[in-house]
Amino acid sequence: MMAVKYFHHALKFRKEVCIGCSHCMNVCPTQAIRIHGGKAELTDNRCVDCGKCYRACPVGAIIVEQDDFSRIFEFEHRVALIPNVLMGQFPEQVSINQIRSVLHELGFTHIFEVEHGTRVLEGAMKQYMEQHGRKKPLISTFCPAVVRLIQVRFPGLTDNLILLKPPLDIAATYFRKKLIDEGAKSKEIGMFYITPCAAKIAAVKSPVGDDTSDIDGVINMDFIFNKVYTSMKQGHKGKNFCQVPSLYTLQPEEMLWSLTEGESSRMPGRSLAIDEINNVIEFLEKIENGENADIDFLELRACDQSCAGGILTSGNRFFTVERLRNQAREVEMENLPHYHQEVDESMESYRGFLMENIGVKKVLPRSMEKLDEDMKQALLKMQMVRDIMALLPSVDCGLCGSPTCNALAQDIAQGRAEITHCIFIQKKYEQKDWLNSKDSMEILKEIWGEEKFGSQKN
Ligand code: SF4
Ligand code: SF4
Ligand code: SF4
Repeated sequence: MMAVKYFHHALKFRKEVCIGCSHCMNVCPTQAIRIHGGKAELTDNRCVDCGKCYRACPVGAIIVEQDDFSRIFEFEHRVALIPNVLMGQFPEQVSINQIRSVLHELGFTHIFEVEHGTRVLEGAMKQYMEQHGRKKPLISTFCPAVVRLIQVRFPGLTDNLILLKPPLDIAATYFRKKLIDEGAKSKEIGMFYITPCAAKIAAVKSPVGDDTSDIDGVINMDFIFNKVYTSMKQGHKGKNFCQVPSLYTLQPEEMLWSLTEGESSRMPGRSLAIDEINNVIEFLEKIENGENADIDFLELRACDQSCAGGILTSGNRFFTVERLRNQAREVEMENLPHYHQEVDESMESYRGFLMENIGVKKVLPRSMEKLDEDMKQALLKMQMVRDIMALLPSVDCGLCGSPTCNALAQDIAQGRAEITHCIFIQKKYEQKDWLNSKDSMEILKEIWGEEKFGSQKN
């Protein structure tokens, strides 16, 4: 039966560039990649857009799609929704006003930090925890890669997800409404998110637990960073007075929200923060097995150092964290009451509206282990996987083009591979004269591509 396509993926594999080295297959935490014909292939329903493969590819064969920057000019009101980690990419001597001022010159008419959304979200999360406290641990939906990981790999934990919009969506909803109330027409407003990762792009293009998004386009953070930094290096010093309207300063706790412990430090009860997807998987396996069930709140992030380690960030993640912590400390010491008051009052007047729109629909499980939509067929295939596993050597060498023996067994049960793809089985069959060496070679070529067996490599 054909697999249902659940997700939009922001990562694209460029076959013409791929050299079939299998680095991506080996790092993928959900076993979503196979090698076929010497090229990497994505199994759609397993990918959670964590971006580990993107980092691992030595030749740039994996790219992250983005909207064309010039699209912003289709709108009269052009809003850049920026996460605070963008600010942490720049050297200390570059001021926040300078960055804003260059963004303005690039064409944005408004700039708004998405962490302003946490102002409303924090209260809503605490309320949610009070109302749903018996379902332990409640899990943050901040990181879309983690939400998808739970859907596909830990479907039994989807009920633990806190069904509230992330700060980005709250910020977008607020800012659009505010502009409309000030006289703008909705279709004249273009909201563009500057993203640190592929998962956020996928979340905008196919929102989980929501039908539509208030965001019109997504632009990759490395692209914006390079544009802004190049402009500065070419002599743009910034005016140190930014003409972009709505110059609000984030409060220190808002500045740190997207870093590790940014949420967990604000939540009541026993809260834990875990970053990096393999750590997250290890921890969720424990939770799934009933261990550590007395945790109230879990902040889980796919990237090491959370969003400071997003695949589209340009700076070193540890320096980014240091800079953002320093900036938060400075704001705390300067205590800028006039800015705080301005945004407080504005967002406060929209609190009721935002709270009405803050919920998302139930997040549905999308188990990647499901071998067939038909229950009877799925059970038969499960038995088949067990039988095949008894024949395979369990060495997880990857020479079959699947990341593990178990993944190969599943592929065979799904009709996507043959048992002879296993090099150990090939050798056994050759000994028994069930397979000749020419056929073995053809199988290897089918998996790894003709070129790898070319005459120059003899
Ligand atoms: S983005 Fe993550 S889950 Fe998807 S294929 Fe790459 S490594 Fe695997
Ligand atoms: S890492 Fe994956 S996508 Fe990149 S060249 Fe190797 S096999 Fe191809
Ligand atoms: S931790 Fe942040 S940057 Fe990394 S995948 Fe999650 S949302 Fe994206």
